Amino acid sequence: MINKKDIRAVEKNELESFFMNHKSPQYRATQVIEWIWKHHQLDFNKMLNLSKSERELLKENFIVKSVYISNTTISSDGTVKFLFKMDNANVVEGVLIPQLNRLTVCISSQAGCSLACNFCATGKLKLDRNLTAGEIYDQVFLINQYALSRYNKAITNIVYMGMGEPLLNFHNVIMSIKHITSARGMALSGKRITVSTVGITKMIKKIADLEPNFNLAISLHSAIDKKRSKIMAINETNNLSNLELALKYFYDKTKIKPTYEYVMLKDFNDSIEDAQALVEFCKKIPSKVNLIEYNKVEGIKYQKSTIKKTNIFLEMLEKNNILAKLRRSRGEDIGAACGQLATQNK
Ligand code: SF4
Repeated sequence: MINKKDIRAVEKNELESFFMNHKSPQYRATQVIEWIWKHHQLDFNKMLNLSKSERELLKENFIVKSVYISNTTISSDGTVKFLFKMDNANVVEGVLIPQLNRLTVCISSQAGCSLACNFCATGKLKLDRNLTAGEIYDQVFLINQYALSRYNKAITNIVYMGMGEPLLNFHNVIMSIKHITSARGMALSGKRITVSTVGITKMIKKIADLEPNFNLAISLHSAIDKKRSKIMAINETNNLSNLELALKYFYDKTKIKPTYEYVMLKDFNDSIEDAQALVEFCKKIPSKVNLIEYNKVEGIKYQKSTIKKTNIFLEMLEKNNILAKLRRSRGEDIGAACGQLATQNK
């Protein structure tokens, strides 16, 4: 029996060789690539510019791994949470956040997560598996279709901030971006894409070497090593000085300013001293800050910081000429907000 490969994990040159070895023209590969990415046609029978025998050949040799929407939940603030199912019954979540001039999509890169940051709902799940590039792409494509039918507008921004650590699924994340930005895919601008990482320094350098066309966000959450290690175990092996070196390398190579994500946790990282430490960290490399309102997660002890403390924190950053903004919580009532994704609606 043939061990069938996922056609969306096959490189173009491999597909060209496949067709040529079967006495078909090389350009069939390009036609198939357009079907599976640009037109999102995942049924070989419907690839009508291929001959019947070529379609049969594809069926005999390949499968298509994909995700489908199994549930949608709409928040009172308009945020939509999608539950995606995959062929082997794994589930992940994605979110559509409608704002004034934007339709932002937040997608997952892994089913579960291995990093267990202790303020995050996903961190309570174990890692099931990495998503394929196709499965990541599907989330964007399907949410875009939803946006087109519901708002008559296409999505504008994509953030890799859902379930999982994108840089621990490096190859598939990079491949998904390649297809999302390709003219033979969704043709979206890389400038509208942000990959968010806890700060895996080796991988940040690897991205820099790829000359990325997308943005990078770092889940920082404290600029004090001791505190950061308390909430993010990754800081034990990738501490702030290593992160600084990696980000310096990244900025020097790309001239892209990283964004620091900083979730405001009551009486943990929201003091003046914490703000001062963040100011010092921000001065090292040109950067921006997103302060994020924390969303309560059941079974996790952290609380949202007060409005007063959050405003003082923000003012302190602004006074020191740090580009900073406060991101209000969205979709909290449906468990779709930052740090809440845990597929509880299975
Ligand atoms: S914050 Fe990101 S890396 Fe940390 S546990 Fe949650 S999903 Fe994983």
